[in-house]
Amino acid sequence: MSKLALDGGRPIFETPLDWRTFWPPVDFQTAEKLTALYLSRRWSAFDEEEKEFATAFAAHHGAKHAIFMANGTVTLQCALGALGVGPGDEVIVPPFTWYATAAAVLHAGATPVFVDIEPDSLCLDPEKVRRAITHRTKALIPVHAFGSMADLDKLRQLANDCDLRLIEDCAHVHGAVWGGKGVGTIGDVGSFSFQLGKTMASGEGGMCITDNPSTAEKLFRASHIGYGPGEQPGKTQNGPPLGLQCYNFRATAFQALMLNRQLGQLPDLLHRYEAAVRRLEERLSATTKMRFQSRGRRADLQSYFGWVMIFDHNRYKALTIDRLQQAIMAEGLPILRAYHPTYRFMLFNAASSAYRVAAPCAVTEATCDRMLWLMHPYLGLDDQKLDSIAAVFEKVLSNLTA
Ligand SMILES: *Cc1c(COP(=O)(O)O)cnc(C)c1O
Repeated sequence: MSKLALDGGRPIFETPLDWRTFWPPVDFQTAEKLTALYLSRRWSAFDEEEKEFATAFAAHHGAKHAIFMANGTVTLQCALGALGVGPGDEVIVPPFTWYATAAAVLHAGATPVFVDIEPDSLCLDPEKVRRAITHRTKALIPVHAFGSMADLDKLRQLANDCDLRLIEDCAHVHGAVWGGKGVGTIGDVGSFSFQLGKTMASGEGGMCITDNPSTAEKLFRASHIGYGPGEQPGKTQNGPPLGLQCYNFRATAFQALMLNRQLGQLPDLLHRYEAAVRRLEERLSATTKMRFQSRGRRADLQSYFGWVMIFDHNRYKALTIDRLQQAIMAEGLPILRAYHPTYRFMLFNAASSAYRVAAPCAVTEATCDRMLWLMHPYLGLDDQKLDSIAAVFEKVLSNLTA
């Protein structure tokens, strides 16, 4: 057995892997287009690039409308506003997510209510959602966590039965297909993020998709200081509907240009990621006792936001997750603990009266204490590197449990 890098042995990756050195994708053709855009001075104000990208993104997901915005937090905020959710209303969210999902609810003036997740998919548990619904509940925001799908059959049914709005947080699942439909089109609104670490990335950026023309118009107005599509600032008589809070949440033409290029490459990327996950798991399910989230609820076309493994303390006695993470990092593989329960975030502690935890979130707590996350860019590496990644897990687990 070779000595752990943690104990002074030779690391498997002598130069530690670092996703920032190869993600997001860049190419000279796009760089030339960006230069031309720069020289044209047509950088923003909802010009052709933004429209072209929004149209292509909607079509790719099989949605009728797409509204391009500044990030994937304000998309959720505008979705809530456009669907009539605001002060006095409760919105059910999972606590196993990036803090944006619940923060957007606060920003919309409503109250986030945290409901626990399912142990396999790591997405909102429909049975627990049902028990948490009150007369104030107005909306549900399931998150398709790390590529696993929330139970949209049950959640859609529940939303219909109880007259609730359904917003899909699709920040982890660009391009996924579920039940023959593009992700984001089963909810009333689907929300995406193009932040630097996402599967489509332009530094910052976000998109809402919807099939409902009235919701689409409200989303547009909410993010374009009240103006509707085609309306000229300063030259229009029509205002937004009464009570719709409107902001400047526009994205720029530069982001649209980069993202349009990435959208064309997305199907290939998703296939590469799928093959990488299969390669890693085929090998590691034979040689380790790790559990993989990919065995949760799968999409028809899976969009992995990385690779999530659940480390079971009972199967690895006397080994802690912190020690496991440290040992893996020392081998040159940057592995992350990912989320802490959202209600522990600073923002929610500061606003402790402004949210509610419907019932103890034991599955979330246990998952946050046991999961490791390899960010998606590493799934794009070649087979030799993927095999070295698998070797890191084998080396570390066999040493630490010897
Ligand atoms: C990234 C992310 C968002 C949006 O974040 P922004 O950084 O504001 O674009 C929303 N929900 C989830 C689950 C995310 O991972």
